Amino acid sequence: MQDRARDSVIQAFKNKQIKFLVNVSVLTTGFDAPHVDLIAILRPTESVALYQQIVGRGLRLHEGKSECVVLDYAGNKFDLFEPQIDDPKPDSDAVPVQVPCPVCDHENNFWGLIDNDGDLIEHYGRRCQGLIESNEGLKQQCDFRYRFKACGYCNAENDIAARQCHQCLELLVDPDKRLQEALKLNDKKVLRCSGMVLESTANKQGKARLKITYFDEDGAELSEIFALQTATQQGAFYHHFTKLHLKDRLRLPQIKPKHPDEAVHLAKHFRHPDFVIASQRQGKKFHQPQWDISEKLFDYEGRYRRAHELG
Ligand SMILES: [Zn+2]
Ligand SMILES: [Zn+2]
Repeated sequence: MQDRARDSVIQAFKNKQIKFLVNVSVLTTGFDAPHVDLIAILRPTESVALYQQIVGRGLRLHEGKSECVVLDYAGNKFDLFEPQIDDPKPDSDAVPVQVPCPVCDHENNFWGLIDNDGDLIEHYGRRCQGLIESNEGLKQQCDFRYRFKACGYCNAENDIAARQCHQCLELLVDPDKRLQEALKLNDKKVLRCSGMVLESTANKQGKARLKITYFDEDGAELSEIFALQTATQQGAFYHHFTKLHLKDRLRLPQIKPKHPDEAVHLAKHFRHPDFVIASQRQGKKFHQPQWDISEKLFDYEGRYRRAHELG
């Protein structure tokens, strides 16, 4: 149909002058007629996200409407009453949770952990599952990522399992290779991290500092210290800590500590890395070796054992 004719038909439907509306990929997203109480699906799809979008057209609340009938003539395999999540359950405590996308508003179904009040503690989603229509009418997956690996060359956000940057095509660092190299060298230390602690402390001049200590299952430690006084220091903290450690990127705008006490207060929003790699500080003046953290590995899925996993 021509746009104009289409618009007037849709308007007539919304005004309840037309009872049934048939469409092919036109009303899947962004269409809102709350009184719809029957969805007849004639389209087979493998995509949970698309299926949810289609069914979702009938799930808006409306006065006098108490149910929505879904007739699936295409034999889609999804369960209407259980949110379907493609990924295997990552943790025995995980439950299906809904996480809105800050970019496209799609309600994502991910595995997640909730507290006793039912509030979301953490979710395992990596990328928004929403479909966005381009100007040419093509549907593409929204590219907002909740977890990502930043490319060291162009800073593009890549899937945490990606081997090559999707933007500049450079090879991304292979965490196994990094660990293997570090384990071989005497001036490198690898910590299989099982937890971390944030502490408000002071340096020798009495200036407030944030100390973050990472420890492994045997109690070995590595730590790093941040000053949070100037805008530059706060920026560095964001790049070296917040951006990497935040459990939920949706909270990012609110998480900008300006004092170590504030950061300690926000500790529950931060996750610890799976591995911490440190390099020995050069110079003869130290009685004991000094270690500077050079790399933190998150979302690790390689062949080395993570803390709390059986070997
Ligand atoms: Zn999205
Ligand atoms: Zn890149």
